[in-house]
Amino acid sequence: MSGSFYSSVLQRLEALKSVMPLSDREAEVLLKFQSINRQTLDVDGQKYDAYRIQHSRALGPGKGGIRFHPAVSEDEVKSLALLMSLKNSLAGLPYGGAKGGVAFNPKEKTPVELEKISRAYVSAFHEVLGQDRDIPAPDVYTNDQIMGWMLDEYEKIKGYHEPGMITGKPLSLGGLALRQDATAMGCFYMIESMIKSLGWSSTGLKVAVQGFGNAGSYIAQMLQAAGHKIIAVSDSQEAVMHPDGLDIQALMDLKKRRLPLGSGDSGSKIDNQTLLASEVDLLILAALEDQITDQNAGKVRAKVIIEMANGPVSASADKILFDNKVLVVPDIAANAGGVTGSYFEWAQNRTGHILDDEYLVNKLKSNMRSVWERIYGLYEAKDKQVDLRTGAYILAVQRILEAEKARGHI
Ligand code: NAD
Repeated sequence: MSGSFYSSVLQRLEALKSVMPLSDREAEVLLKFQSINRQTLDVDGQKYDAYRIQHSRALGPGKGGIRFHPAVSEDEVKSLALLMSLKNSLAGLPYGGAKGGVAFNPKEKTPVELEKISRAYVSAFHEVLGQDRDIPAPDVYTNDQIMGWMLDEYEKIKGYHEPGMITGKPLSLGGLALRQDATAMGCFYMIESMIKSLGWSSTGLKVAVQGFGNAGSYIAQMLQAAGHKIIAVSDSQEAVMHPDGLDIQALMDLKKRRLPLGSGDSGSKIDNQTLLASEVDLLILAALEDQITDQNAGKVRAKVIIEMANGPVSASADKILFDNKVLVVPDIAANAGGVTGSYFEWAQNRTGHILDDEYLVNKLKSNMRSVWERIYGLYEAKDKQVDLRTGAYILAVQRILEAEKARGHI
């Protein structure tokens, strides 16, 4: 699965040569990884493959989450690190791209075991991390508690406080309340801008959400509160549907109690592929990579796909969706709210100034709107002949290459 994700990222960068001037040297610099760090963590006699991979540092220190998932591999982490470089660049943040992961199933571990693995991760990689070097954050199956353990381990090793070395941490350790919802809020503001650009109604859209975790459940809640109808949601176990709209709060309560989505009376059970093919205005992909591929892209009946997850649409599916006039709002734009929230947290940790929530929400809103206006503006300027992803990649790559040139690397 991750092999095809990596080849999707490479194929898309390769395809840029036909839509923007890109010399061989520039392409070579873009594809170069700053450092690929692999370690085997040994925790209570069990071994775990762990990675921290830094792609570009042209615009600033590396930034990107840490994932705990059995499918974590070097190629997957490389793809995610490269996407982080593009996302941070597109969002105008002072960061390069990085990502990390440990290959195991956290659902099978006790909290004590999770803490040991989190601490072992920092002990293995502390030399390549730091507020001016590479700043991790939560990703799939990691959370604020894990960031708290990681910060504690880092500060123990270094012997001084450095809260800016990690974001998405508990509030008591310098975290930011907004960070938890920033991905969904940012995505919501982007959807608002998109609705205006497309001339759609601002209420009553039909929505399906794949992945009812951090990102997916909050966006479902926000869209429902704004008057849209969430007709289907899924997690890794099952999917539920109700044509008149699901009760999102009831489903979130089930998840909190660790009960299956289908165990309430909110909707009827369907399979994941039915959800992906449902007739909706918005299909929000908030689970993992490679969910829409050339195998099922032709069955998509949504008008717009929002990539809240990283890499949920494969490169082979892009063309099918484009030909079928399904608009895809790419990951590096749609989920940039998360890293923007992380940037606020980091800036606050660095300066010691506590920024007011209203100011931050407005800043998040204006950043996300600006990203949308730039990618949609380019899409229109190119007579809608290239997809939104290509436009987003062009803008992101231009900023990285400008920095590389200014550094004298090109
Ligand atoms: P999470 O672990 O909170 O949620 C993931 C959800 O996806 C879970 O509900 C899981 O059950 C579900 N899932 C897994 N496989 C599935 C499948 N095959 N079908 C349906 N559902 C499935 O993770 P998250 O933080 O919400 O991240 C989700 C995606 O969003 C990831 O790709 C992540 O990289 C991306 N993302 C998250 C953030 C953030 O701030 N949380 C920011 C940017 C990008």
